[in-house]
Amino acid sequence: MIEGSCLCGAVRFRAMRMSGIVVCHCSMCRKAAGGAAGAFFVARRDEVTWEGAEHLASYKSSPTLERSFCSRCGTAMTGANLIEPDETIILAANALDGDIAARIVAHEHVGSKTSWADNDDAPHFRGPYPGWESLRP
Ligand SMILES: [Zn+2]
Ligand SMILES: [Zn+2]
Repeated sequence: MIEGSCLCGAVRFRAMRMSGIVVCHCSMCRKAAGGAAGAFFVARRDEVTWEGAEHLASYKSSPTLERSFCSRCGTAMTGANLIEPDETIILAANALDGDIAARIVAHEHVGSKTSWADNDDAPHFRGPYPGWESLRP
């Protein structure tokens, strides 16, 4: 069983199984997911249960594709699903809770990858970045 939730906790999903994760670097996924890339996986629609689905809002990012997110906190909850539903649903990996044993199976639209995410040799910190107070443009 895998579980996901939005930042405010209003929307939750549970799925029996998940596919590997596909990371999408396109500009739409970056904006929708709120990061350097979107990360998504596939579940079977009939194996997914929602809690608080009434808090989901959706946006058609292209004529046949729809994304949904929590209307309270904005967390991306699904990827660009076909409006005509099939037996699968694309869920947003950013919403996953806990340490899920999943693997990234592909990176797509890498031609759209931002240069700032590509040129990254910055130091890593286990806690918060100690330079926030002095960070200036
Ligand atoms: Zn929320
Ligand atoms: Zn994308």
